[in-house]
Amino acid sequence: MRVLLIGSGGREHALALELAADPAVDFLAAAPGNPGIAQVARLYEVVATDPAAVAALAVEVAADLVVIGPEAPLVAGVADAVRAKGIACFGPSAAAAQLEGSKAFAKDVMVAAGVPTGLSYACTSPEEVDRALADLGAPYVVKNDGLAAGKGVVVTDSIEDARRHAAECGKVVIEQYLSGPEVSLFVVTDGTASVPLMPAQDFKRLADGDAGPNTGGMGAYVPLDWAPDDLVPQVMREVVEPTLAEMRKRGTPFAGLLYVGLALTPDGPKVIEFNARFGDPETQVVLALLDTPLSGLLLAAATGRLAEHPPLVWHDGAAVTVVVASANYPGTPRIGDVIEGAEAAGVIHAGTARRDDGALISAGGRVLSVTTVGTDLAAARAAAYALIDNIHLDGAQYRTDIALTALEGRISR
Ligand code: AMP
Repeated sequence: MRVLLIGSGGREHALALELAADPAVDFLAAAPGNPGIAQVARLYEVVATDPAAVAALAVEVAADLVVIGPEAPLVAGVADAVRAKGIACFGPSAAAAQLEGSKAFAKDVMVAAGVPTGLSYACTSPEEVDRALADLGAPYVVKNDGLAAGKGVVVTDSIEDARRHAAECGKVVIEQYLSGPEVSLFVVTDGTASVPLMPAQDFKRLADGDAGPNTGGMGAYVPLDWAPDDLVPQVMREVVEPTLAEMRKRGTPFAGLLYVGLALTPDGPKVIEFNARFGDPETQVVLALLDTPLSGLLLAAATGRLAEHPPLVWHDGAAVTVVVASANYPGTPRIGDVIEGAEAAGVIHAGTARRDDGALISAGGRVLSVTTVGTDLAAARAAAYALIDNIHLDGAQYRTDIALTALEGRISR
């Protein structure tokens, strides 16, 4: 199988490592890729959000399967353009990707499908914002309606901060605060059949103890030994199946990766958000424990044959990923710093680049992550931090408490 992977982040490096090691894959192309992906795939320079350019590249490399990593190309219609060339594509249509592209659309689908989620209001005017904030009360949850790379959400006790974020965004969804530990569940689907992967927990806040601003994600781990045994079947029954049915009913079936972000509230699991693609950095840990070859699974979903796919097989043990971000992230990140020690196995590239002299330098907010597996969470975690100790990047920021509360038997948050 010839596979073209679209994207350039840590998620795509993790996908590339899996696809490159997959015996069914005999050629792996990636666009635009990064220096880590370059070690396992042939890179092509293409603007990932340009549907015609990606479709043309898929034809040029004679791809049997295109895998789209990030949300922006999906929302831009890249999967539609690839499929229009008769090439299988793992990733939803632009219409179905609205589950991530618009928080108001996602809420509308959830309500129509009867999916458990927080009460919410879509608001465009300051008057609507004030009414919603007054009705729902503190803590206030204000979400940019559109794509914001995981940084469009403000959770605050300050009504001024809530109002300011709403004014900056224009269209927002104001949502009831949901308390409880958060779980990310990835579901591979062809629009009808669906296969859950292993639930993971990620760490959205910048600093230890869940302090600081929200980020794209600073770490993750699997498995969630503390989660209820029936969590996955319950979420498949109460969330995934009704959502997929509602999308089919609307004539825009969702095929690809449905990412369900959940809060395990005292009233049961409730949806915090949907994403239309693999999460970053949860992908790094989930794929680290997946034994089933990825290409066959993604091709089955892309071609409507997921029901025929054999059950997934998982490795025992645990996996931990810790993200290393540049100075000033999640503000305007400082870039161009030299990175040392990133050659080790388990280092996943995200915002890295090669300088003309060949040196590896930082080129984005989340620079890299370390992903390690172990016989248990303690071993995986120790290995991750040992790997980080060997990496040098001036001004690097990373959390020292990834998976710590789970390890200590305290549920996180
Ligand atoms: P989202 O981009 O929707 O995942 O939101 C980013 C983060 O904000 C989530 O992972 C939560 O930590 C937090 N968040 C979002 N919605 C809520 C909510 N309704 N209640 C509490 N926290 C939330």
